[in-house]
Amino acid sequence: MLTSRISSLPLKSILPCSHLLSPLRIPTRSLNVAIIGSGPSGGYALKYLLSSPLNSSNNLRINVFDKCHTPWGLLRSGVAPDHQDVKNASNDFEAAFEREEVKFYGGVEIGKTLKLHHLTSTHKIIILSHGCSTSNFPSLTSSPSPSNVIHSKNIVDWYNGVPGVIGPILNSKNGVLKVTIIGGGNVTLDISRILLKSVLKCPSLEESDIVERAFERLRREVGRVEVRVLNRRGGMQTAFTIKEFRDLTKMTGEDMGINIKKEDIEKSMNEESLTELDKSRPLKRLWKLLSSVSSSPTTGTIANLSIEYFLNPYGYTVDPSTNTVTSVKCRVTELEGEPFKQKPKDTDVEVDVETDLVVWSTGYKGEAIEGLERYFDNGVYRCEGGRVGVEGGCRLYACGWIRRGAVGIVGTNIQDARETVRRVVEDFEGGEGEGGGEGGGVEEVMREEGVEWVDWEGWKRIDEVERRRERKRVDEQIREKIVDVDEMMKIGKYL
Ligand code: NAP
Repeated sequence: MLTSRISSLPLKSILPCSHLLSPLRIPTRSLNVAIIGSGPSGGYALKYLLSSPLNSSNNLRINVFDKCHTPWGLLRSGVAPDHQDVKNASNDFEAAFEREEVKFYGGVEIGKTLKLHHLTSTHKIIILSHGCSTSNFPSLTSSPSPSNVIHSKNIVDWYNGVPGVIGPILNSKNGVLKVTIIGGGNVTLDISRILLKSVLKCPSLEESDIVERAFERLRREVGRVEVRVLNRRGGMQTAFTIKEFRDLTKMTGEDMGINIKKEDIEKSMNEESLTELDKSRPLKRLWKLLSSVSSSPTTGTIANLSIEYFLNPYGYTVDPSTNTVTSVKCRVTELEGEPFKQKPKDTDVEVDVETDLVVWSTGYKGEAIEGLERYFDNGVYRCEGGRVGVEGGCRLYACGWIRRGAVGIVGTNIQDARETVRRVVEDFEGGEGEGGGEGGGVEEVMREEGVEWVDWEGWKRIDEVERRRERKRVDEQIREKIVDVDEMMKIGKYL
């Protein structure tokens, strides 16, 4: 099944930079590279390292560490279950993991399970590609956080089967769930689509790899869903993209409606926003679609999505008996500032949005690996073209979200990884690759430290079990993910 696709590609077509074909000063001893994170950015870094001149002799060793027991990062745990075409990007990396010079260490969290110095002493190069896995949102209450307020990460982790995630409380009333999602990016559209598809009983969700624990609860507890997406700015500042929104508009019909207020569209067209519109082709296309949806709003019998603008949440109405939010208090905003830098400014007008569940879908933040805090600012590693610094003689590089922030689609990582690998190669070309850990030994260190892990063969066993498991819903269901770490270790532990 796993063919060696990378090795069959012409070298020049996958090299980060063709001029780098010139001879390099390749170290004669083993060159150990650690990649932290096996999501799309780590995957592309691995792919380009293997096809770089660093791999022209037989001494390159690449160890890929992931805190999860399974590979693929956001491809497995972030991308929506009904977007299998995007998830399939992992096919591109499988061949790389089959190579002898590549090792996978799943369930090994660098900074926690294994300390940074264990890695710097056994590797010459570390590529930090561990993504942005924390979330940040204002509490809006002085009391403990109400139980029905969550971050998007919680619900996304839940339906994607991240071990240990219990998922949100669905406080539906008579089977109707009112969900308020704050922030209007693509993650918001993913969550909305999964909720809507669930009540619409869409085959594409049944066939997907949404985990049964989430699917079953949504089906059992929610009969109808009303999703309201609150944007603090106007329509021209919408963060989601046209493709994702168009997919939702195609779902409308008797049972599902989408609504955008005409007043919001009109208010969005201030002079500064029209300048933004004039300068952006993607925005023009999106704007046309948003305007057309607003001129023919629809109401569905069981599922409704409403995209609302100029609403800035500032507080909650809380039912003290249950510590749950019953409405989100918002102030109506206006925009101020230059084109492309417009900010929301609160007015005195207030709006209450009744709700059963509040989801803050306001983006993700990164965290430094323990010991690398001094290279870190505002949720990303400070770096120049991917170079971060030198730690214990080991050169550090970064790519993906942890380098540029939580923006961009899977494909954005291609450019990012190519540039980072180009820097790695340039540094070796310049003789800066000397020093650092001579390597070998990381497995010995892990054994000494009592660390257990899932290796590539172990992951393949897990993968097979997930694909072969009894289908819970329909024959077409892609897999039923294992959501228990002990079970994963039982199947996949390196022996
Ligand atoms: P995002 O695109 O950055 O959107 C965040 C949203 O939250 C924006 O609407 C932002 O509004 C709003 N927001 C931020 N802070 C806020 C606050 N304090 N109060 C109210 N609203 C606030 O984030 P995301 O949706 O998490 O996506 C992350 C990245 O992954 C994006 O680049 C996205 O395109 C990508 N992604 C792509 C896909 C896909 O291609 N299918 C799927 C999922 C994610 P302001 O603009 O006003 O700050």
